[in-house]
Amino acid sequence: MAVLEPGVDIGELDHPGGIGVRCSGVVHLYRTFEGHDVVALQGVDLAIRPGERVAFLGPSGSGKSTLLTLLGGIQKPSAGRIFLGEHEISRLPEPQLARLRSRRVSTMLQGATRNLLSYATARQNIAFARLALSAAERKQAVPETDLLARVGLEGVADQVVSTMSGGQRQRLALACAVSTSPQLLLADEPTSQLSHDDRDAVIGLVHELGDELGTTIVVVTHQPEVAATFPRTVTMKGGRVGLEGRDGAEYVVIGAEGVVHLPTHLAEQWPQGTLVRIEPETHDDAERLVVSRPPEEQGERP
Ligand code: ADP
Ligand code: MG
Repeated sequence: MAVLEPGVDIGELDHPGGIGVRCSGVVHLYRTFEGHDVVALQGVDLAIRPGERVAFLGPSGSGKSTLLTLLGGIQKPSAGRIFLGEHEISRLPEPQLARLRSRRVSTMLQGATRNLLSYATARQNIAFARLALSAAERKQAVPETDLLARVGLEGVADQVVSTMSGGQRQRLALACAVSTSPQLLLADEPTSQLSHDDRDAVIGLVHELGDELGTTIVVVTHQPEVAATFPRTVTMKGGRVGLEGRDGAEYVVIGAEGVVHLPTHLAEQWPQGTLVRIEPETHDDAERLVVSRPPEEQGERP
């Protein structure tokens, strides 16, 4: 894998459609004011294909937002490697990361207002989001008025953000995020606290971006209705990828060195330290794995 050297143009990442993402052994620690380390991610291995659309699920504190900001190049991992396409962004120097963030990857942070200039108008926010584009790219881009119309904000184009409703802000944040035609769109809970209509409008627009440009899309959500619109789900658990869903069916992921997270109901039934035996068995030509407990321990809890 190529590491982007200082001086290499990020324009090299230019190609139509979405960009693939790969994480390998990603660990992230936060140091608190008291000097303690909090382990937010403890060995994330994940690959997302170009143009794929993924919903990140999982309980609060499981590391979803942290992983999203690492993929968006907003923070660097404490350890491990992150690739966008062929390039290792976890090692990019800051000026190139900044260009990547402003031109190729759009990240919507949790909470719409964190993504917007609250004293500026809707139109000005979009112009600001596009500042890093070249003159030629800006000329080609969808005009601000048309973009605002697509998110139903044509009536408030010249209204200041601080006077807008939550739903309007969230739709504007999305319009800003898509205004640069990114190859990767990362959105952290873009539909929380929205009405059902606003939620459907925002998610509809996210998928339109994927349909039109082939953009790779990752959305963090806790809403089952939103997750159901994604062909793939990744469920985080305690800073790791626990489960993956494909078209509504859930799978346990075999992690590094064969580590697996049990589905929640089994983890509750079999606490840490429980001994289990896993054996393949062929039945009616179908191979399955049979999980059993040692006879002497059945009925006991460790
Ligand atoms: P999620 O988005 O799934 O709720 P986060 O990525 O926000 O999870 O957080 C993962 C873990 O990291 C949690 O234990 C959280 O308390 C901790 N954490 C997140 N941000 C910070 C921070 N800036 N400083 C210290 N700890 C943090
Ligand atoms: Mg979060």
